[in-house]
Amino acid sequence: MNARRAIIIRLPKDKCDVDYITRLMALANLAYRGFEVWVPDLPKAIQHQLYGFRNFKGSLVFGTKPKGWLAKTWVPLKTFRIYPDGSRKGDRHAPVVLDFRSNVIRLRQVCKNEPRYVVIIPMPKWVVGRISEGGDIKFAMIGLKDNEPYLALVAEREVEPHVPSGYRLVVDVNAWSNGVVYGIINPNNRIAEYSPLRPNLRLIDTWYYRAEGLHKKLGRLKRLGLDSTPEARRLAREVKALRRKVYAYLRDFVQKRAHELVMKAIRLRALVIIDDMLEESRRELLEEKLPSGLRKIYLAEARRFVKLLATQLEWYGVPYRFKRLYSSACPVCHRELTQLPGRIMVCENCGFKAPRDMVPMYWAVKIH
Ligand SMILES: [Zn+2]
Repeated sequence: MNARRAIIIRLPKDKCDVDYITRLMALANLAYRGFEVWVPDLPKAIQHQLYGFRNFKGSLVFGTKPKGWLAKTWVPLKTFRIYPDGSRKGDRHAPVVLDFRSNVIRLRQVCKNEPRYVVIIPMPKWVVGRISEGGDIKFAMIGLKDNEPYLALVAEREVEPHVPSGYRLVVDVNAWSNGVVYGIINPNNRIAEYSPLRPNLRLIDTWYYRAEGLHKKLGRLKRLGLDSTPEARRLAREVKALRRKVYAYLRDFVQKRAHELVMKAIRLRALVIIDDMLEESRRELLEEKLPSGLRKIYLAEARRFVKLLATQLEWYGVPYRFKRLYSSACPVCHRELTQLPGRIMVCENCGFKAPRDMVPMYWAVKIH
């Protein structure tokens, strides 16, 4: 099985010509559609390699099919790798050079339309990590996101999924207001460990509501025509900083927890069972009367968590399955459970009783 992971790196804007990258992206869009357009004033080498990618159409390199003629299409690029021991792989003339001896990435003629124009960026630790795990970076992409230039690197690795040891790691993805719950079921079919992973919600709330409050104040100033005063500008900056804080905190939380769970699965040689039923979570968030802005962030991060988890499990060869695990149906007799205060669930039919977050674990025990 071929596993892939990707990372995007922001490129120095002062060293990149955004218009040039825009043109390359337009050409990539045409190439994807099967057209070959040779533009006289762009480097031949870059155009040659663009059309050389035609055979990879539909693969990750081209990403998903651009939706329209003017859709932004990232430009696929070949790489040349120079390893610490001096060995080399790839096309010597590739526009992206990953030099592990000097720990830099050299971008040749993709940032500016000038002969021999090179941008050098430090080698990200992420790349060194993936290489040390046996991965290879055959492809890169350059493109614009919100008009900022970025380089995307795609690591590839051949993996054989491990044979599960009998342990199961169950991951129930709620929508962050209750966090992610994980459980370990041992080979004797017992729930050996069980714990919620919860972000610091009070912290998020504080930042979120402070940002909302300031945003309202800013709106009032704007309506009075005072939106270019220093006071308004200060408010706008503060709102932006607070919102960024919420995102950064959750992003970091998602990354760390996903990684921890993957490491746990590797240690136990477990089969991972994921319930990513986000519809139920969405309903739960609605019931909690969360403001829609915060609800959106929580759901987006929950989705990102599932995606990250799956990508990393594939990368490390951990087998996983998506399975619907219920938290409001009785795992014994399948009747609807009743919720008592303190998120305790009981079955009025057979007497089953468990904390709400643990019910999915009982469902997972039944999966063989
Ligand atoms: Zn029951």
